[in-house]
Amino acid sequence: MIASQAELTQQLLNSGLWISSKVNGVFGWGQGFETVISALDSRITQFSEADAATSINFPPILDRSILTRTGYLHSFPELCGSVHSFCGSEHEHQALLTAVEGDADWSPHVKQTDVALTPAVCYPLYPTLSGTLPEDGVLYSLSSYVFRHEPSLDPARLQAFRMRENVRLGNQAQVVAWRQLWMDRALSLLTSLELDVELDIATDPFFGRGGKMMKANQKQDEGKFEILCPITSAEEPTAIASFNYHQSKFSSVFEILLADGELAHSACIGFGLERCALALFSTHGMALETWPAAVRQELGL
Ligand code: AMP
Ligand code: ZN
Repeated sequence: MIASQAELTQQLLNSGLWISSKVNGVFGWGQGFETVISALDSRITQFSEADAATSINFPPILDRSILTRTGYLHSFPELCGSVHSFCGSEHEHQALLTAVEGDADWSPHVKQTDVALTPAVCYPLYPTLSGTLPEDGVLYSLSSYVFRHEPSLDPARLQAFRMRENVRLGNQAQVVAWRQLWMDRALSLLTSLELDVELDIATDPFFGRGGKMMKANQKQDEGKFEILCPITSAEEPTAIASFNYHQSKFSSVFEILLADGELAHSACIGFGLERCALALFSTHGMALETWPAAVRQELGL
């Protein structure tokens, strides 16, 4: 029988795979869990290398104007993590300390900085590509911690987690075919890990009433697919990987052009590394040594 959210969390903590913090959705990871994350990352790297994708990384913060320019605050205001810091005088510092020592809200004493927490790994990439792309477009492989403000008791819904992305910019046909290739690769990889996965059309959690229309459009345009796998529920499996086709959404904001002068199209595919690892631990158990030999071999463990 599949473990409930609370049971799985307890099993992860008891076995030292996860380390507790006082905040919902924030954990540390023990060595066994990290071993699996690294193994998954290496398997994904093999595909990125087959694509000859350029491997680059950004820190988990980004220029916050990227979020405002791409409409992130319109679509996902409740998920956004903005960064604030103290910028005042000595006198104002006293006011900050009075609030801190009184366990009061200290937000009136800090100011918004130029950065925000990265909500998805591909965001910092697009502004670096302004201009004209090479004839065959570009491929990138990236990885980072990302932040989403969605505190939860579900061990698969974290506030900070690692996302392994690959991104393609090119013409529509190139980008759509490349997304399909990754859906096939991901399904075959996850199936070889003996996970009970299925591919389904999906939508992003666009906010509010306006969001309903955006979800409907995204579905109609087949803008998002997800691979789902049971982690704490067979009836409501969890998305462990996503395959997004943005059309020219990002290239129109950052003026990314094809060699023929048309706007580029883009797609990104993202594996939630903690969720993929969780799917494995939930399916095969907390002890790596007892996992099926074929799964360990596939992961090089
Ligand atoms: P998204 O950009 O929402 O499609 O997310 C990309 C991938 O990140 C998803 O397919 C999940 O595997 C993973 N993911 C999304 N949200 C969370 C979360 N709150 N906690 C852990 N993993 C997540
Ligand atoms: Zn992305």
